[in-house]
Amino acid sequence: AADREKVNSVAKIKVVVRKRPLNKKELAKNEEDIIETLSNSLVVHETKLKVDLTEYVEKHEFVFDAVLNEEVSNDEVYRETVEPIVPIIFQRTKATCFAYGQTGSGKTFTMKPLPLKASRDILRLMHHTYRNQGFQLFVSFFEIYGGKLFDLLSDRKKLFMREDGKQQVCIVGLQEYRVSDVETIKDLIEKGNATRSTGTTGANEESSRSHAILQLAIKRSVDGNESKPPRVVGKLSFIDLAGSERGADTTDNDKQTRMEGAEINKSLLALKECIRALDNDQGHIPFRGSKLTEVLRDSFMGNSRTVMISCISPSSGSCEHTLNTLRYADRVK
Ligand code: ADP
Ligand code: MG
Repeated sequence: AADREKVNSVAKIKVVVRKRPLNKKELAKNEEDIIETLSNSLVVHETKLKVDLTEYVEKHEFVFDAVLNEEVSNDEVYRETVEPIVPIIFQRTKATCFAYGQTGSGKTFTMKPLPLKASRDILRLMHHTYRNQGFQLFVSFFEIYGGKLFDLLSDRKKLFMREDGKQQVCIVGLQEYRVSDVETIKDLIEKGNATRSTGTTGANEESSRSHAILQLAIKRSVDGNESKPPRVVGKLSFIDLAGSERGADTTDNDKQTRMEGAEINKSLLALKECIRALDNDQGHIPFRGSKLTEVLRDSFMGNSRTVMISCISPSSGSCEHTLNTLRYADRVK
């Protein structure tokens, strides 16, 4: 009962905004910081033009569970977002943490350290609180690109998804590494991120069009019987989403870009609908809307937790994208 209480004390859905500092490029262009932050709200100061071309400022206020300003460290981000859900992964809970935002807003910067910090805490719990109880930690890392799955820990091997009849998602051929120390996890995360960003056309361009999914699974041998395959107890997924502006690439001249844009648009819309359905405790969750939500199907069912980190640039030049990101986050909540 105490365990159930522990699970219930963690909010089902938490929406957090992280604002990054102005970068050199923005400063060089004399772009201004238009985001005013408070502990759980923010105001966007949008400069607009009247018909006579004089400028005026329109203010847009948003309220979230937390707003993390440019001075907040990655450690603090972890404490605010993922740390509270780590212990309940041991209590048959699945949790997902998303980073949403336009390309360059800080999604990867924010996401990259989180799985490592989480696994450190998970291993600590395994070695102390849950000592000798047969728990094991597994890591996998894959991406969804153009609606297809690729293993980031196995040279981008193409993967296929199927349902196992018990409503568990099974990704055929996905490499899962059993890990028992932080160093190994760190190497795997580095490897996956490197595989992600060195695609055919290189660097950020490529990664901004894919969703990267890193999963930490806690498993346990049935009745302490080590000879049988262990069963999943809980799962923690970290999702570095495709650049939200990519969903608008649906009128691009290039057919490939257009198709990818349509796929990204579809997946981000489906994701929003699924999270909203979760929040309303609707029986029906529209996960069939996209590959992304299908893959996350088992994380949307039953007792699950969702953390959305919306990343924004402070600069006046990104005002429109920032407002789009904040409106999306607002709809999720
Ligand atoms: P995205 O993954 O959303 O495209 P990145 O995470 O790659 O964006 O961030 C873009 C750039 O901004 C990177 O050089 C990154 O190091 C820097 N950056 C992002 N967020 C922060 C932050 N909170 N503090 C300092 N630098 C940041
Ligand atoms: Mg990125």
